Amino acid sequence: MLRSLAGPAVVLASLCAASPALAQRAASEVPASAPVTGVRYEVTADRAGLAEHRLHVVTTFGVAGTAPVLLSLPAWTPGAYEIVNFARTVSEFGATQGADSLRWDKADYDTWRLWPKKSGQVTVTFDVVADTLDNGMSWTKPDFALFNGTNLFLYPEGRSTDFAATVAIKTEPDFLIATGMTRAPEARTFRAANYHELVDMPFFVGQFDLDSAVVSGKTVRFATYPKGVFAGAMRTTAWDQIKRSIPPEVLVFGEVPWDSYSILHITDSTFGGMSGLEHANSHVDVSAPRGNGSDFQPSLFAHEIFHAWNVKRLRPADLVPYRYDRPQQTGWLWVSEGITDYYADLALVRGGVIDTKGFYAATSGKISEIANAPPFDLKDASLNAWIKVRDGTDALYYPKGSLAGFLLDIMIRDASDNRSSLDNVMRDLYRATYKQGRGFTADEWWGAVSRASNGRSYDDFARRYIDGRDPYPWDEMLKVIGLRMQADSVPRMGVSIRTEPDGGVRVMELAPGSPAAGAGIKPNDLIVSVNERPAMQVFYGGAFAEMYGAKPAGTSIPVVIKRDSATVNVQVPLKFGAGPPKLVEDPAASPRAVRLRNGILRGTTDK
Ligand SMILES: [Zn+2]
Repeated sequence: MLRSLAGPAVVLASLCAASPALAQRAASEVPASAPVTGVRYEVTADRAGLAEHRLHVVTTFGVAGTAPVLLSLPAWTPGAYEIVNFARTVSEFGATQGADSLRWDKADYDTWRLWPKKSGQVTVTFDVVADTLDNGMSWTKPDFALFNGTNLFLYPEGRSTDFAATVAIKTEPDFLIATGMTRAPEARTFRAANYHELVDMPFFVGQFDLDSAVVSGKTVRFATYPKGVFAGAMRTTAWDQIKRSIPPEVLVFGEVPWDSYSILHITDSTFGGMSGLEHANSHVDVSAPRGNGSDFQPSLFAHEIFHAWNVKRLRPADLVPYRYDRPQQTGWLWVSEGITDYYADLALVRGGVIDTKGFYAATSGKISEIANAPPFDLKDASLNAWIKVRDGTDALYYPKGSLAGFLLDIMIRDASDNRSSLDNVMRDLYRATYKQGRGFTADEWWGAVSRASNGRSYDDFARRYIDGRDPYPWDEMLKVIGLRMQADSVPRMGVSIRTEPDGGVRVMELAPGSPAAGAGIKPNDLIVSVNERPAMQVFYGGAFAEMYGAKPAGTSIPVVIKRDSATVNVQVPLKFGAGPPKLVEDPAASPRAVRLRNGILRGTTDK
């Protein structure tokens, strides 16, 4: 999962809106279901239903007798660590056997219990409200549906998840279907080998753009809704970035784990940022229009695709197997999310999507983010994922976990004289745990890190920097690879701003004596443009530093603002202030430091 690209206020608002009251419950106390066989789901996504945000689901299965069948819907979608309780969206529930209606009730809030009258086939039907634009949920437009299996596909309570199933899609003849699920011989029908696979393969149904390319020897599909929105040069660039960033990720693990990979991408102006959710052979993005083609987009794609290995396959033991009925807490999201984010940066620089300066900028951005946050423990922050804490550390296991990965990479390369790296740790654990059908433990993680480092102990490191709150020792660590932090001076207007849902930039506060205040800008003004460029692009697309970083102080900045209904033109004098320190190469770095640094940037080790 990765969410970004909005002003913090907007991100918070959209997270809150998408998170119904958190409910947590004890281990399920309902008895096990009678066994069911030959499970088949039929999802109707036709124009009539889509117009009303309705998907119709028919589930059929066989029973051997009259023992009660208990069927549940998940409480969450793996990767999106929040309890949603998909049973909330179900209506018009019914169960039949031939012409007979079956008696049913609720065994608990997400479990339906029904009583078959005889052995043979049972049919369960219901509607799902698909009105939430969230990559772990279901959403329709008149010509389109996104749905996740966790939202629609019932499982028998207390039984093995190891049952195969087929999914048939009933839809319009002119609608396309995109999913990572394997096609069955029948038209518009798919099959999954078990329940985990079934709910890990979201669907796009409707009218959208779809093309594909072979990357690292396997097909990658790019499905974008609505039609025409992700087109032309923007699409060409995105494909170039995809083709550059996947091969370095493949090299970390030594294999392409999918037969085909699908990028399922939705653009919608009601969405406040850009968000991705990973699966074993696909990911779903939801993006504001301005996210497409932004610098964040290739980073999001590289992050979600790296998850196909790190978390969908190589996964902490706490998350194996996935449990769908309750929060599944783990202290390891700093590896599953944070180190995934480190590898997204590495994939981009190793693949040439960004240059080394881009990598340093991404890294120093993370260093500043953590420096400005309250001290926190990575393991605690990972456990907190489920409750969206409001102490200023929510989701910071992403940047801090990414930096922990960077530190480990430096220490491993230092201890092994660049003969091994964090890549070796990821590959070794992938083989030793995922390939053996299980998750990794703390001993296995730290054992692999230590082995890659010629036996160096990481007890102290883990105690201080992972399960501890000590600030990271940047001066000492960066020196090892010939980098250092340098104070930076950046152009400033002296306004505190927030993005508006319609894409404007609102002035919240003015620093005392700031150039903007001196020029007559007031709180609550809406900044429309800066030197004729849209304010959003200027402040959130990095254009401000580009436009004014090299200009002398005092240069006049033409700013257009809206105040009530009036348009006002002001001239703000350019000022410089201390910016976050930036990561730069040390010209006096030793040849060894340069060798280690190049190892990180190029994905190489010395033999
Ligand atoms: Zn993620």
